[in-house]
Amino acid sequence: MSNDQSIKKGAELLTQGATMLNESCPICHSPLFKLKNGDVICPVHGKVYLVKSDEEEKKVKKDIVLSSTEDELINNLNYLLKKLRDSPEDSDVMMQIIRYLDAIERLRRILGTSQQH
Ligand SMILES: [Zn+2]
Repeated sequence: MSNDQSIKKGAELLTQGATMLNESCPICHSPLFKLKNGDVICPVHGKVYLVKSDEEEKKVKKDIVLSSTEDELINNLNYLLKKLRDSPEDSDVMMQIIRYLDAIERLRRILGTSQQH
């Protein structure tokens, strides 16, 4: 994409309510834009994850892993709850549900502390 096109795209983003950031794209050095939903966009490369250091990159990866783990746990919990509905007396299912709830609680504690600045 030529420089003119990236400027045009940038102007387009601004009209959509995006704000221009002081940071530039690590790949093409175009100015970056922040969308209303918090996504950071390079007019040339699309969505970029802004990481200032290796430390921060690790944290971003960790957050992604932890939140996908949470999704997985909740999916399994949902499945177990359906099972429990079919056989409310099944104490094995009940124990599994408790274990999942415990895991989710722990995970949320980790997520909570990692999001504090
Ligand atoms: Zn770029």
